[in-house]
Amino acid sequence: MDHELTDRLRDLRATTDRVARAAIAPHAIEVDRDAVWPERAMRALADAGLMGLLVPRAAGGEGQGMLGLVAVTETIARACSSSAMCFGMHCVATAVIAAKATPFQRRHYLEAIAAGRHVTSLALSEAGVGSNFYVAQTPLRRDGDAYVIDGVKQFVTSGAHADSYVVSTIASDPNAKAGEFSCLIVDADSPELTWLEPWGGFGMRGNSSRGLRLEGVRVPRQNLLGEEGEQDWYVFEVVAPYFLMAMSATYLGIARAALELTIAHLETRRLSHSGEALAALPVLQHELAEMWATVEKCARFVYDAARRGDTGLPDAQPSIFMSKVVAAETVVAVTNQALTLCGGSAYRDNAELARLLRDARASHVMAPTTHILKQWTARSLLGLPLL
Ligand SMILES: Cc1cc2nc3c(=O)[nH]c(=O)nc-3n(C[C@H](O)[C@H](O)[C@H](O)COP(=O)(O)OP(=O)(O)OC[C@H]3O[C@@H](n4cnc5c(N)ncnc54)[C@H](O)[C@@H]3O)c2cc1C
Repeated sequence: MDHELTDRLRDLRATTDRVARAAIAPHAIEVDRDAVWPERAMRALADAGLMGLLVPRAAGGEGQGMLGLVAVTETIARACSSSAMCFGMHCVATAVIAAKATPFQRRHYLEAIAAGRHVTSLALSEAGVGSNFYVAQTPLRRDGDAYVIDGVKQFVTSGAHADSYVVSTIASDPNAKAGEFSCLIVDADSPELTWLEPWGGFGMRGNSSRGLRLEGVRVPRQNLLGEEGEQDWYVFEVVAPYFLMAMSATYLGIARAALELTIAHLETRRLSHSGEALAALPVLQHELAEMWATVEKCARFVYDAARRGDTGLPDAQPSIFMSKVVAAETVVAVTNQALTLCGGSAYRDNAELARLLRDARASHVMAPTTHILKQWTARSLLGLPLL
C-alpha cells in the first residue's frame, strides 16, 4: 500500500526497514530467548531519528499521526515483536504527552524525545481493575506545589528502562466521579519508584512489562497532563486510538513475518521421494492463498482505520476499535496455520515461528481487550455511551 503513503512517510518506512534488517532482526532471537529489553533496537531507532515520529514538528519531531505510527511500527514488528511493542508504547505515551503539552512539557520531554535522548512508556494497568484500565484506582493527592502518588501499576512496558512513564491516577478532587482519572509524567529517577519482579512473559519476552510500586512519589504540578479528571477525553481521543493503532500494526507485522517464513519454507523444503518442493502441493497452495488474503484484508482494514483516524472522519471510531480485534484474530490464526504448514521441523526447533505464535497471543489480552473492543464498537454503532 506504498502508493497511499506520502513521500515523507515512504522515506520513513524505508529508513525503518533498513534499521530493522541491520540492527533489529539480528537480535530478535536473543531478545526472546533471554527476555532482554531491546536496547540496541531502541538505540538504532533513535539514531535514525525515528523516536520523535509523533512529536509535533514545532518541537523537532516528524509530526506524524496514526498512519505514520502504523507504517513504522509494522515494519519494526516484521523484524522483532518486542521491539515494535516498546517502540509503539513509546509513541503512544509521546502522543499522550503531546496532546495538551504545556511549554514546559514541550521543552523538557517532547524535544528530548525528538532528539532521541528520551524513551517514555505507559503505566496505566492495575491488578485490581485489570483490563478496565480506564477506571484507575491509584490515589493522587495535592501537597503544596506537588502531587503525591501511591499505588502499584502492573505490566509497564519498557519497565525500568524508559526515562519517564505516563501514569494514570484518580482525580485528587474528593468529589470526583468514579472513573475520572488524571495522567502525569513520572520521571524514572524518582527515588520512590520500586520495580517488581522481572518480566518472564509467555511471549513478547523483550518487553520488560513489569510491575511498578509508587510509594509517596512526588511529582511537580507541571507534570500533570491536561486538567485533572479528563478521563473521557484522554481515553477516547488519545490513549485508545494511538494504542490501538500501534498494537494493530505490531500484530499485522507479526502476521506478515509468519507469512514470509511460510513462503520461504514451502519453496525450500523438498520431499526426497518425489523430489518436489512443498510449494508444488495444491492443498498447501490453497492454504497459503487463504493466509495471504487474511493478512491482506487485515492490512487494508488497519491502514484504512489509521487514515480515517488522522482525517477525523466520523466513522473512524468503530474502525479504530475493530482494527486491533481484526489484527488479533488474524495474527493468532496466521501464526497457527504457519506452524502447521512449516511442519514438525518448525515445531521441533522452537524457533522463529514458535516465537511469533507466542508473541501473537498477547494481542487478545492487552487492554482494551478483544471482549471490550467488541462492546465499544457495538455501543458506538448503536449510539450508546461507550462506558
Ligand atoms: C505483553 C503485555 C504488555 C503490556 N503492556 C502494558 C503497558 O505498557 N502499560 C500498561 O498499562 N499495561 C500493559 N499491559 C497490561 C494489559 O493492557 C492489561 O491490563 C492486562 O493484560 C490485564 O490482565 P488481567 O490478568 O488483569 O486481565 P483481566 O482484566 O482479568 O481479563 C481477563 C479476561 O476478562 C475479560 N474482561 C475483563 N474485563 C472485561 C470487561 N469489562 N468486559 C468484557 N471482558 C472483560 C478480558 O477480555 C480477558 O479475556 C500489557 C500486557 C501484556 C500482556
